[in-house]
Amino acid sequence: MEGAPPLTVLEGVGPARAEAFSRMGVDDLRDLLLLLPRRLESTGTRVAIGELNDHLGEMVRVVGTVQQRSFRRFGKRNSLTVRLIDDTGRVDLVYYNQSWQRERFQDEQVCEVWGRVQSSAKGPVFIAPKLHTDDSPLPPAGGWRSLYPQADGLGAELVRKLVARTVESHGELLEESLPADFLAEHGMARIDEVPARLLDPRDPRDFESARRRALFDGLLAAQARSARRARSGRGEGARVCLVDDDVASRLRRAFPFELTGAQQRVFAELRADLAARRPMRRLLQGDVGSGKTAVAVLAALVVAESGGQTAFLAPTELLAEQHAVALAPAFAAAGRRLALLTGSTPARERSRLLAALERGELDALVGTHALFHPRVRFRELALVVIDEQHRFGVAQRGRLLDKGDGAHLLLMTATPIPRTLAHTLYGELEVSLLDERPPGRGPRTTRWLREGDGTRLRDFLGERLAAGERIYWVSPRIGEDEDVGAERAFERWQQSELARYGVELVHGRMDSADRERRLARFRSGAANVLVATTVIEVGVDVPEATVIVVEDADRLGLAQLHQLRGRVGRGSAAAWCLLFGKPVAADRLELLERCDDGFALAEEDLARRGMGELGGLRQSGEAGAGFEGDLDLVVAARDLLAARPELADRLANGSKVVNTLHVP
Ligand code: ADP
Ligand code: MG
Repeated sequence: MEGAPPLTVLEGVGPARAEAFSRMGVDDLRDLLLLLPRRLESTGTRVAIGELNDHLGEMVRVVGTVQQRSFRRFGKRNSLTVRLIDDTGRVDLVYYNQSWQRERFQDEQVCEVWGRVQSSAKGPVFIAPKLHTDDSPLPPAGGWRSLYPQADGLGAELVRKLVARTVESHGELLEESLPADFLAEHGMARIDEVPARLLDPRDPRDFESARRRALFDGLLAAQARSARRARSGRGEGARVCLVDDDVASRLRRAFPFELTGAQQRVFAELRADLAARRPMRRLLQGDVGSGKTAVAVLAALVVAESGGQTAFLAPTELLAEQHAVALAPAFAAAGRRLALLTGSTPARERSRLLAALERGELDALVGTHALFHPRVRFRELALVVIDEQHRFGVAQRGRLLDKGDGAHLLLMTATPIPRTLAHTLYGELEVSLLDERPPGRGPRTTRWLREGDGTRLRDFLGERLAAGERIYWVSPRIGEDEDVGAERAFERWQQSELARYGVELVHGRMDSADRERRLARFRSGAANVLVATTVIEVGVDVPEATVIVVEDADRLGLAQLHQLRGRVGRGSAAAWCLLFGKPVAADRLELLERCDDGFALAEEDLARRGMGELGGLRQSGEAGAGFEGDLDLVVAARDLLAARPELADRLANGSKVVNTLHVP
């Protein structure tokens, strides 16, 4: 288990790609073999073009002859439309901002394409379908195929290719240590079968059993390690950050609001932790909007009073940027200095900022993975705060903590882990709970919309906009064309009569300056509608937004939908979360309608599905892989470790938590 070969043994993987993999939590070949795809996709059956209307929303293939092509530019964007015909009808293929696709289609060429059929005013269309060529053949029709996550500089197809090669060359790295009946009972595949089933599953059931097995491996190792850390203690070398009550209340006045009772309670817990020689290891759980950031800022200010520095880590640039903006006033009010460091920080500014950090002129550094870089050196790092901590692996935490000597650690999460399981998952941590919402928030209503609600929705959105409120429109089409899906939704909005209220678009492929500028327009009210992918899932905070509409909600997990819902209900006005989704997800959507509290939601979800229920078919391939569907595995891992403690030591040295808890 230990010592799997590094990724660089693979042809085509050098240090840069290895680093990109590491950001996904993949550090060696074993991790790569167990890397979870984002989801499973049908390779589509072949249909005649004239039948496409019967397959709207499905992944299908057609073969046709290119009849005409047209290419248009509008501003910085462009679109290519290719018309395909066969004996039964015609269909348009549309590619946005992929001008290179022009070379791939010739008039009269016979071609096969694969994609999701959508309806348009002109009949069925494919948005950015894949084209069969000799160089990149389509997978065989009528099967299933996994979509891999992508990271900067690593396309999903490249990741897939590298996984396939590793399965060939190093498949034997994985050895099963769990009994067959245990695996069967929990709907899990044997570990040595996992990589091939993840890569090219025969069917969704096959995939699901492999996905659960890979996840289980990570959960087991994480729990083993967490138990070991809890046993081994953590020394006495922390910086003692002690402030008296006068200073504490002065710091509290750095905010324009009164702290809630829960915030005061947690602040007191943090003060006590920070004043000890033993480094703090605390997890702060609080539902979306419960005001975790303010508590973390207070901790950072206490540390600054004692001459220490804070590293504040966020999982996305968007969130880091926003934290930097949100933290600035409180830091300024307390006479403290903070800076932002992300992958997009220009080189000049970066050097200046890193020098200041090393001289101790900055009290806090907010940032993304960029903080891990060896050149980021603190003079006196005393506190590490990790927001949305489930997005980071244990190893990554360690990389930041190592920059200080006995630094305190505060982890924050809005992922509603049921209280009954929090201890199992985070055995070595003390847990604080923010279980009170800041006052003055309006009521929030969640509705599952059916087809046919479209007109009423338009009227309703018109009323909200007329009342000066703002709207998020989330289009989470997953897979490689997520951003394109949002672009399409954006175009529809621009053509609607409500466009006069101002519409903006954000998605993951924009550079951060562009995205920040667009978000700023939404924040200031220059645009009142924000069309987005799920990039806005974490953190975006605009109190004037009262409505969030989510398309294709059936493709998202419960926790993710609850996070998205957390974007609204932050002001005093009433708020709405409106979900479009197929009936396959009825359970989830109805539960969201009934229950607005994240922790209650998690408890009820767990109770409803029951522990130890066979995982088998619960999530079909199209439903996406979410952690919240697998709490039974957390429990199974706990029970297994209790029954066979000898496993713990072996596992604690073995695999780490793969990034699988949350596939980005
Ligand atoms: P989360 O827990 O989701 O990270 P945030 O820290 O982003 O929540 O806080 C959500 C919003 O609530 C922010 O706009 C913040 O300024 C505001 N807020 C936090 N605490 C209070 C409070 N005690 N009273 C009023 N508003 C608050
Ligand atoms: Mg937050």
